[in-house]
Amino acid sequence: MPRHLDYSRHQGRLIALVILVLALALVATGVWWVTTMPSRQASVTPAGPASSDPAALATAASGTAQSTSAKSATPSPTSAPASPMPTTAPTINPATGRVDTLDGLVPDYVLPPIENGMVPVLTKVPTEQKVVFLTIDDGAVKRDSDLALLEKNSIKASLFLANTFVAGDPQFYKKYTQAGHLIENHTMSHNLAFIHLSYEQQKAEICGMADFAEQQYGRRPVFFRPPGGPYTNSVRQAVAECGMKAVVDWETKANSGGMDYQVGAGLRPGDIVLMHFRPEFPADLDAFLKAQKAAGLKVVLLEDYLATK
Ligand SMILES: [Zn+2]
Repeated sequence: MPRHLDYSRHQGRLIALVILVLALALVATGVWWVTTMPSRQASVTPAGPASSDPAALATAASGTAQSTSAKSATPSPTSAPASPMPTTAPTINPATGRVDTLDGLVPDYVLPPIENGMVPVLTKVPTEQKVVFLTIDDGAVKRDSDLALLEKNSIKASLFLANTFVAGDPQFYKKYTQAGHLIENHTMSHNLAFIHLSYEQQKAEICGMADFAEQQYGRRPVFFRPPGGPYTNSVRQAVAECGMKAVVDWETKANSGGMDYQVGAGLRPGDIVLMHFRPEFPADLDAFLKAQKAAGLKVVLLEDYLATK
């Protein structure tokens, strides 16, 4: 046997031995890898995301935290579309049961109670809060365009209607009540000699209109305005007996396209403004809006401010 062949045989045995050692090492490594797999997974998984995510850290820290975060996380997808609703949905005033025009304002004046059988009289609300009240009387001229003007300017008003002006078409003013305006009491016949009527006649004028409004519009008026404005103690007593809470007059008018101030030269906080359903309604409303903006006052419903139903 030549030496080189003997050498190559020795070399072949050495190679086989190396291959065997490498194969054994590979098998051993494989066994180690498989047997240590669970502990590696346990140590690697929390170390990754938990260390970079505070929420995951908190979740891993305690079961309580995990259940709390699960609770808070679960409603959020379903409540997310609903959450804008409380801010945009109209707020019901628990005192009045109505959608409120106060926008969170807390009035600093409380309507006085009936004393000696007589309701209080308001010609202005004694407040320094930046509010003004619009009242619109009679109801003779009925136009959808006038309601549209009020709506366009986001104004709610108290409507002192008299039966004689609305009895022919009482349904028309349901459009106003449906839009959030309130109907108050301005007698049955709008008799300008009202204060000279007998007590029983006055009471019939006041109670009759209160009953009519309640039947037609589903709400009994709370305020009364005598035709032309004058009142007596007899009127105040009849108003109380018919279930109303105040006589409401004014110190400011929007009239013939201009403003008419009994006191001062501009609107004051707490002013009650008189307007009418007349042909010049758009010009009167325009005059009122200019004065209201110039004075920086917010138009609020008198019934909301005085917390009356
Ligand atoms: Zn009138």
